[in-house]
Amino acid sequence: MQKFVIADMKKETILFKKLGDKKVKCNICQRRCIISESHTGWCGTRVNKGGILYSMIYGEVSSLSVNPIEKKPVFHFYPGSRWLSLGSVGCNFRCPGCQNWDIAHWKRGEMYTEYLPPEELIIRTKASGCIGISWTFNEPALWLEYTLDAANRAKEQGLYTNYVTNGFITEEALDMIAPFLDVYRVDIKAFSKKTYMRTGHIKQFNGILDVTQKAKGYGMHVEVVTNVTPGFNDNETELQGIASWINNTLGPETPWHVTRFYPHLKLSHLPQTPLPVLEKAWSIGKDEGLWYVYIGNVPGHRWENTYCHKCGAILIERDIFEITKNRISNSKCPECKTLIPGKF
Ligand code: SF4
Repeated sequence: MQKFVIADMKKETILFKKLGDKKVKCNICQRRCIISESHTGWCGTRVNKGGILYSMIYGEVSSLSVNPIEKKPVFHFYPGSRWLSLGSVGCNFRCPGCQNWDIAHWKRGEMYTEYLPPEELIIRTKASGCIGISWTFNEPALWLEYTLDAANRAKEQGLYTNYVTNGFITEEALDMIAPFLDVYRVDIKAFSKKTYMRTGHIKQFNGILDVTQKAKGYGMHVEVVTNVTPGFNDNETELQGIASWINNTLGPETPWHVTRFYPHLKLSHLPQTPLPVLEKAWSIGKDEGLWYVYIGNVPGHRWENTYCHKCGAILIERDIFEITKNRISNSKCPECKTLIPGKF
């Protein structure tokens, strides 16, 4: 753990255990860091001061914007609706191709954030005509205290809530936020220890699967994203593993987004994901029996549209993040009247 000069302790954290010698154990994410006094955990967002663990990012917002829910991507929860999206700094992963590395890979020093109290977040969400709040851009589990306070108020005001997460949250942290969370948009980045070590720098990934299953059990709307990255997770074994796990554990109705990787950061030398590779991933998902597999980051591709899983009729047409046509009526296919899973 790195030595940290304490500048601003925002809030005592809600999930830590006091150990001897003023050490603490953080139980927010599955790293479960043991942190000595005056040090931070792996993510850099929590500091031990006098044997108490504090969050330094409570309410500290690095990015805030109004987006269609399709941008997360979430395709089966009120398509076309606008959501207030926001994030802070820090992450418990260090993905080498991270698109948000400038905020996610923050570890110490100047934050370049603005404080936004939970009550003000609710006011802004309603004033901007959004139906909900997405915690995104960096890992929302690290913001547990803030998202909990805001999500609680959001539900009181009839707003929806969404975590865009890498899934490395602990079960006990999920238990706390679950009553106030509607959507769980989770990355399943790989299906092997080796690839998860290369992307997230974690030794075990089974906990991600277990917590995602638990989120589904809580009744959250779950959608899964896999960013198909050349040389990392684009082999058939990993993709088949993810598809089978979704089908057998979450259910075939769970949308799976296989998205194109764009060269970035430490993976700038890689090519973007070739279209045949993405289409192969799509086929693996469909052959496995998943009802809704989407190709993402390929504007105009026909598999970014929604087709009825029963009769194949086109239901929703998309152009990048915009809905150009939505034929779903009363949550049903207009042709065969099958109920379409999700909220419409
Ligand atoms: S949130 Fe995770 S990475 Fe950060 S201090 Fe807690 S256990 Fe460590």
